[in-house]
Amino acid sequence: MKIAIAFVLLFSLLAVSSTAEKFDFFYLVQQWPGSFCDTRQGCCFPDAGKPAADFGIHGLWPNYAKCRGSQLQGLARAVLGEDAAALFSAVGRRGRCWPEYCNDGNTLSPWEIRDLVASLDRNWPTLSCKSGRSFEFWSYEWKKHGTCSNLEQHEYFARALELKAAHNLTAILAGAGIVPSNTETYSLSSVGDAIAQGTGFTANLECNRDADGEAQLFQVYLCVDREVKQLIDCPLSMRSKCTDRVKLPVF
Ligand code: 5GP
Repeated sequence: MKIAIAFVLLFSLLAVSSTAEKFDFFYLVQQWPGSFCDTRQGCCFPDAGKPAADFGIHGLWPNYAKCRGSQLQGLARAVLGEDAAALFSAVGRRGRCWPEYCNDGNTLSPWEIRDLVASLDRNWPTLSCKSGRSFEFWSYEWKKHGTCSNLEQHEYFARALELKAAHNLTAILAGAGIVPSNTETYSLSSVGDAIAQGTGFTANLECNRDADGEAQLFQVYLCVDREVKQLIDCPLSMRSKCTDRVKLPVF
């Protein structure tokens, strides 16, 4: 009997896996290059040269509004016990806060995004010292997050670029007097308020630490509807690793 139920669950899992990914919203994550570089591990500039002093895209990430254990996992736990639930968690991708690696066979093709490369080099540069090739960063983001977005390759990158251009974080912050400085600190609430005023929607903020251990604004998470058309208020609040006052280091 248990074996029959296991088969039913396995087939249900396979059926669910082949349908469109169900998620609730996207994060458009942008990193401040000064804060990426101003850490103990530092950074490297990509082939295309030093990026501008502007937020750069990290990724466009499908996300769930609520972290979930999968329904199948719950069912497996109830019927077959903890070991089976663990197996379904390992096999399925849904016991998480976001979907990821939805189709490892769908690798990013340079041809598909050839008309976007100049803009991607400016707006989505890698700062990691791993390779210095931004295409590798884009490929990684596509494989991990983009394959779960229900978008084609070109649309995924084009939409991210459009959203960044429509909501210019560097200009929004500058308009509120929040400009890069190696001495000034800014209240975290003034950063959040400026972004809410400038975009019309609340965002999530992530900080990191400079080499002296001081908190700096690292990434801004704008929340975007499932159709990747417009911003929404972020459904989950997060002020990761931030203190009341943060730096925005010069880049
Ligand atoms: P994720 O945060 O999307 O899960 O992973 C980001 C991956 O991209 C890491 O392996 C990181 O080393 C690599 N990466 C390459 N360039 C960059 C960059 O400029 N910023 C960040 N945050 N990660 C980068």
